[in-house]
Amino acid sequence: MDKELRCVDVMPESGCREVIRGKDENEVMSKAAEHARTAHDIRHMTPEIENKVREAIHDER
Ligand SMILES: [Zn+2]
Repeated sequence: MDKELRCVDVMPESGCREVIRGKDENEVMSKAAEHARTAHDIRHMTPEIENKVREAIHDER
């Protein structure tokens, strides 16, 4: 099953509607890092952000 991440689950205050999908957690993580950089000007994923992202990744529904 594919994995899915809603940006707003990681950054509720952003109101971002982006939904990132990938075949596994690592693919979602790398796409999330790309999205964070281009859409939110987050240059580096801190361990804190990375943990929040991993917690927010779930099976696609
Ligand atoms: Zn976003």
